Amino acid sequence: MAECSDFVNFDHTRQGIKFYMCCECKMHIALVGDNDMAHGDTWSINLETAVNLVKSIPEHYVASGRTKMAYMSCIYCRTPLGWQYVEVESPTNLIKEGRVILYLDKLMYWSGEQMEWCGENKRRNH
Ligand SMILES: [Zn+2]
Repeated sequence: MAECSDFVNFDHTRQGIKFYMCCECKMHIALVGDNDMAHGDTWSINLETAVNLVKSIPEHYVASGRTKMAYMSCIYCRTPLGWQYVEVESPTNLIKEGRVILYLDKLMYWSGEQMEWCGENKRRNH
C-alpha cells in the first residue's frame, strides 16, 4: 500500500461520509455531494468535491462542436477517471463549465460502512 500522506484524504470515520476512490490505488477522489447526478455509466460532480486529480490540457470535444473538456486522471496511478467540462456552448444542469464527470466503473465507493464497487460486474478479471 502506498503512502498517501502527501495527498488529500477524507476522514472515513466521520458520521455519514460517502466518497469515491480510485479503483486501482484507492486514492480518495471525490466526496458525494448534494448536486451529484448519475448519468448512465458516469457520475457528475462539482469540482470542489474532487481531489487528487490531474488535469490534461483542455481539448475540443469533436462530437459536440464548441464544448471543450479536459481529461482527469488519478494523481497517484494516472488511471483515467473522467473529464471536466472547461467550456460549454449550451450549459445544462449536467453539462456545464467546471462540472466533473467520473467513470463509475473506475471508482470504488465508501458507503459510510464499507467499500463497494461502483460499476457492477465491470471489473476486468485479468
Ligand atoms: Zn489511482
